[in-house]
Amino acid sequence: MLDRACKIVATLGPASESPDRIMLLMQTGVDCVRLNFSHGAHEDHKRRYEAVREAEARLGAPVAIIADMQGPKIRVGVFAEGAIQLRYGDVLGVEASEAPGDAQTIRLPHPDIVAALEEGDVLKFDDGKFQLTVVERTRAGVKARVDFGGVLKSQKGLNIPTRRLPVSALTAKDRDDLVYALALGVDFIALSFVQSAQDVKAARALIDGRAGVLAKIEKPAALDELEEIVALSDAIMVARGDLGVELAPEQVPIVQRRIIRTARAAGKPVIVATHMLESMIDAPTPTRAEASDVATAVYQGADAVMLSAESAVGRHPQTAVAIMDRIIAAVENDPDHWAGLARDSAHPEPTTADAISLSAREIADVLGCAAVVAYTSTGSTALRLARERPRCGVIGMTPHESTARRLCLAWGVKSIVAEDATSTEDMVEKAEVVVRKLGAAKTDDRVVITAGVPFGRAGKTNMIRILRLE
Ligand code: PEP
Repeated sequence: MLDRACKIVATLGPASESPDRIMLLMQTGVDCVRLNFSHGAHEDHKRRYEAVREAEARLGAPVAIIADMQGPKIRVGVFAEGAIQLRYGDVLGVEASEAPGDAQTIRLPHPDIVAALEEGDVLKFDDGKFQLTVVERTRAGVKARVDFGGVLKSQKGLNIPTRRLPVSALTAKDRDDLVYALALGVDFIALSFVQSAQDVKAARALIDGRAGVLAKIEKPAALDELEEIVALSDAIMVARGDLGVELAPEQVPIVQRRIIRTARAAGKPVIVATHMLESMIDAPTPTRAEASDVATAVYQGADAVMLSAESAVGRHPQTAVAIMDRIIAAVENDPDHWAGLARDSAHPEPTTADAISLSAREIADVLGCAAVVAYTSTGSTALRLARERPRCGVIGMTPHESTARRLCLAWGVKSIVAEDATSTEDMVEKAEVVVRKLGAAKTDDRVVITAGVPFGRAGKTNMIRILRLE
């Protein structure tokens, strides 16, 4: 039996980048780290990457590393005075220009975006703190009226939820960061502001199998093509930071539930991200609402929950991980959780892999098995098994380090690098060594093994074996 099924992703930053701190975070329960390319220089990410790999080697357990691309984040230009005051009802010009803005005109260094604006479009600045609505087009751009104002500073972010933006999900900076991240050896590339399946297709072609493709869902436009985006991605993130700016707050929980269900049905790992333990950036304990938010994601069957600023720049990164770990454990100790997961589980597809996965989960339930062990080359069999959400968890045995690392993001999967089996006897012997080594099973426990014959070929899972440990 594995200790925890839902995984923890921690964003690294100045508060969590020393090798000792990274080691502690991983010992406390981090399964996957995120390098946020919106902040920091390449050298910072390299240092953090190397410290994670060093801790991974010392702990002898794989860890997944996500390189999160900044994406086409739109920012206002600079203001001559550094900031302007936006007052309710004022009408300002919005123009495309690199020149500094002033109290009458906001200037955006994004001509394509200004050209696409139309009457009725909503402009949300600085994470939605200030809002303007476009009232007319002009020769130079548009005029927009302030709906709610305040002090808007230079280079703050801009979201335009009413519009599909005429930009690709990978900017020139992203392409440069992507090459760097792939050379480091990251396991996933996270794409920000994905708007269409085509965005994922284009990134997939560029990444060319060197890392998994993780689509961040944070634009309403992406929801129109959610099924296709999930099908084309290796993992999904409910990126509630920007999603919460683009959508009304009451829509975020509904959309979170829909994205989790869609990803779970497709058997793709899904992360719930942002503001999970936000108050812990300063405080040593979370609010009740935050604890409830993490618990809700776990009850919904998310593969992973994520810490952002809490672990990157907060005062208590390790405590935040420990608390997340405790909240997950508490939910996973609730029998009702397992009934809920079973109720929401997706129907198997008519494939050998899904028939085997369903059977393996049922065998494990009926016999009270200690683990399901999957021989998996690409990780696909382990993911199809995880899709069944077996209570005892899945042990993914793979000859490939890259597969073992990517599986760290998947619900309930403990992955380990092991040589392929060469015969049925060898398969049983190797599985027994692994379950004992991981402490997943002991003498007299039963485990279910899935594998493919002939051995050593990808995509061939076609066998189930039940083993009682002697
Ligand atoms: C988010 O918007 O929720 C998110 C995770 O992305 P970022 O941290 O890049 O804003």
